[in-house]
Amino acid sequence: MQLEILTLPCLKDNYAFLAHDPVTGATACVDVPEAKPILTALRDRGWTLTDIFLTHHHGDHIDGVADLVAATGARVTGAKADAHRLPPLDTAVVEGDTLMIGGVTGRVIDVSGHSVGHIAFAFPGAVFTGDSLMALGCGRLFEGTPAQMWASLSKLAALPQDTLVCSGHEYTASNARFALTIEPDNPDLISRADRITRDRAQNIPTVPSLLSQELATNPFLRAHLPEIKAAVGMPDAADDAVFAEIRARKDRF
Ligand code: ZN
Ligand code: FE
Repeated sequence: MQLEILTLPCLKDNYAFLAHDPVTGATACVDVPEAKPILTALRDRGWTLTDIFLTHHHGDHIDGVADLVAATGARVTGAKADAHRLPPLDTAVVEGDTLMIGGVTGRVIDVSGHSVGHIAFAFPGAVFTGDSLMALGCGRLFEGTPAQMWASLSKLAALPQDTLVCSGHEYTASNARFALTIEPDNPDLISRADRITRDRAQNIPTVPSLLSQELATNPFLRAHLPEIKAAVGMPDAADDAVFAEIRARKDRF
C-alpha cells in the first residue's frame, strides 16, 4: 500500500477518508460530511491537506467542503457531470481521468446508480466508493437504473482483489442481516456477519473492507452467480435483473 489511509467517522454514520502519500506529504480527503473531525485528524497527524475529492453531491458528503477549503485552501475535485450541484470545483473529472495524491496515481471510475454522476477514485490498494459499493451492500438507487448500478459495481469488482473498499457509511450490520436472507448458508457470510456483530458491539468501524471479502459475501456483487439466481428464484434471468430483484428486496427490508 503506497497510501496511508485514515477512516474518519463523521455525523451519525458517515465516513470520510484521509489518504496520505508519505513520500511527498500530499494528503487528500475523500468526501466531507463535516469539517471538524477532518481538521482534528490533520492536526493530530501533522498532515497538510492538498486535495478534496468528492464522490457525489449528497449533503452528507459535501456539507463540510466550504469550511474545509476555508481552513486549508485544498483543491476540490469532483465529477464534471455533477459540477452544477457540487461545491465550486477546481478540477472537474470524467471516467478514465487520472488524479494524483502527491506521487501516487489514481483514476476516476463512473459508478452511477445511487446518483447519476457518482464517481469512485481507484488508487493502488484502495478505492473510494462513496455510496456505490458499500461494505456488504450498495447505495439505494435514487437516480440511476438497476442496470446502471450493476454495470458500476461490475467495474469495481474487476479491481485487484486485495483492494481496500473505502465506502461512505457504517451500514454494515443491517446489510449483514439482509445478506443472510439471500444466502443463509454462505459460510464466508456467516463468519463475516459474526465478526461484524462483535466489532459493532465495541464500536469498531467495519469500513474499509477488502474487495475479496465483498466478492465472497456481498449479495449485490454476486447477482451473476448461479447459486444467487437460484436463491432468489430467478435461475434463468439476466444478471442485472437479478441485481434489481435483490436491490428491491433490500428496499423493502
Ligand atoms: Zn448519497
Ligand atoms: Fe451518503
